[in-house]
Amino acid sequence: MAIADNIEAIKNELKPYHCRLIVVSKTRTLAELEQVYAAGHKAMAENRVQELLPKYEALPKDIEWHIIGHLQTNKVKYIAPFIACIHSVDTFKLLEEINRQAAKHNRVIPCLLQIYIAKEETKFGLEPQEALQILQSSTLTHLKNITIIGLMGMATFTDKEAQIHQEFASLKSFFDSVKHITQPNVKLTELSMGMSSDYKIALQHGSTMVRVGSAVFK
Ligand SMILES: *Cc1c(COP(=O)(O)O)cnc(C)c1O
Repeated sequence: MAIADNIEAIKNELKPYHCRLIVVSKTRTLAELEQVYAAGHKAMAENRVQELLPKYEALPKDIEWHIIGHLQTNKVKYIAPFIACIHSVDTFKLLEEINRQAAKHNRVIPCLLQIYIAKEETKFGLEPQEALQILQSSTLTHLKNITIIGLMGMATFTDKEAQIHQEFASLKSFFDSVKHITQPNVKLTELSMGMSSDYKIALQHGSTMVRVGSAVFK
């Protein structure tokens, strides 16, 4: 199937859940991404800054770029002028640096806290307890150039569906327990979970943004 057809099919699946599609553009060519754009889809995500920058330069400027992979503090300055959303905040220090760089550009950058839910050592993320500390910390209110809009999580890469259900359910229940927290720069409405292999499961657990790559470009 063509890219445009895949996007339409996935969007139709998401519609009843009021969930947004973020097309993951990592490893894809500019020609492929131009097809995504031509299909009228403008929300794209990269997991590495080095891959994002040349794509940002080459493609139309009304694309809404998301970062979904582990972000080093020394790379924030390169994306601060234009990034629409950072899904992978996993330390308070990173949040402070995003705030510092966003301020230089008079921007407020929407961020998600990445929560560790998988049973895999290699994945990044905050423990729920650490995320709670960040959300409740009094110093957070000083970060006027970021806003925390939700949580992100990645399930274990496994074919055991019960385990994936359990991991997404645990993130949803944590989300529900913190979503009422109010700080001037905290408004938790987004739950970023689900990729090609597991987004149908994530939808059942309240995902509001799925990050899908291979199922779009197959
Ligand atoms: C690559 C990636 C995805 C998309 O993976 P697909 O299997 O290609 O859909 C989603 N989220 C993150 C964080 C990724 O790195």
